[in-house]
Amino acid sequence: MLDQINGLHHVTSLASGARANNAFFTRTLGLRRVKKTVNFDAPEVYHLYYGDEVGTPGSVITYFPFPNAARGRPGLGEVGTTVYSVPKGTLKYWQERLESLGVEGLGHGTTFGQDRLHFAGPDGDAFALVEVEDGRAPWSGGGVPDDEAIRGFHSAHLRVSDGGATEELLRFMGYEEDDRDGDTVRLRIPDGNGADVIDVETLKGANYARQGAGSVHHIAFSVNNRAKQLEVRKALSDTGYQVTPVIDRDYFWAIYFRSPGGVLFEVATNEPGFDRDEDTAHLGEALKLPQQHAYLRDVLEQKYLEPIED
Ligand code: ZN
Repeated sequence: MLDQINGLHHVTSLASGARANNAFFTRTLGLRRVKKTVNFDAPEVYHLYYGDEVGTPGSVITYFPFPNAARGRPGLGEVGTTVYSVPKGTLKYWQERLESLGVEGLGHGTTFGQDRLHFAGPDGDAFALVEVEDGRAPWSGGGVPDDEAIRGFHSAHLRVSDGGATEELLRFMGYEEDDRDGDTVRLRIPDGNGADVIDVETLKGANYARQGAGSVHHIAFSVNNRAKQLEVRKALSDTGYQVTPVIDRDYFWAIYFRSPGGVLFEVATNEPGFDRDEDTAHLGEALKLPQQHAYLRDVLEQKYLEPIED
């Protein structure tokens, strides 16, 4: 069993409008935009990152907003719900805040005996908040008081047709079974980074998801550095997984592989981090372009990338 993985690093999803996406994560949820860049493979599309003050791994959600993208259809083989951690006693605050801001899909549910507040992102993205004793510091500049602000991810909830193989993979990656609730198995990284829970739900007979705006594209797991990433890569390859070579994503190094339930997994390094090309005080403000796309700046800014507000 591996011991290099700390929990989630980031969650990457698809969106339609960049402006609505930015407003929702910065103003409604009070996260910090920690990077404004573009998709490496499609530089006419933004890649927007939101998290805590410095984009600590385990707090970062990233979006590719494709203008006018059709919504995805929820189903098997994807992340069903992305769950954020908020302090004890704050769900009422959040319910009132999200209601007053016109957020859709608000409702309560109980999972593993714990109340959670469900809500939808701007493209129908499925989110929930749970109250957790959580030592992680929130972003203080987002308009949500520190006592209530989001701490980072709590968990990702995967929906698969048969959870067994996915659970086995997660155990291999260092997760341990923590609890069971109906057809859902909860796995947790011991002494993880706070974003260290994965719930695997087996849903037999459901349709497979069709990805689109509001869908999670992949989830990334955190390792401290490139040496640990290579250890994980070798172990996964030796076990038979088809893992990509290490890819430089400017703010982390990435490897990708498909999990048996269909969800795309990534393992990303905590180094070098989002302050490698901007001061912490100004993270996410300027448009940062990967070096190979730098010559496209004028055309991207004038023709393709809609201005987004701070
Ligand atoms: Zn990623």
